[in-house]
Amino acid sequence: MQLQPNPLSAMALINDVPVTMVEGRRAVCDGGDGPLGHPKIYINLDLPGPRSCGYCGLRFEQVHHHH
Ligand SMILES: [Zn+2]
Repeated sequence: MQLQPNPLSAMALINDVPVTMVEGRRAVCDGGDGPLGHPKIYINLDLPGPRSCGYCGLRFEQVHHHH
């Protein structure tokens, strides 16, 4: 087991959070249980590149499988 890093606590850190890769065309974000928590929303990922949540700024991107 590894020690947990300090919890993220500020919007200033959001750009340090890796983009969350999502299977499928839609991400679901509720900001988690911390200070970024917000009503659950769906984020359309049809466009290429990462999309930011309008509430908490977390970024999501559709997984593109390479065959
Ligand atoms: Zn969010």
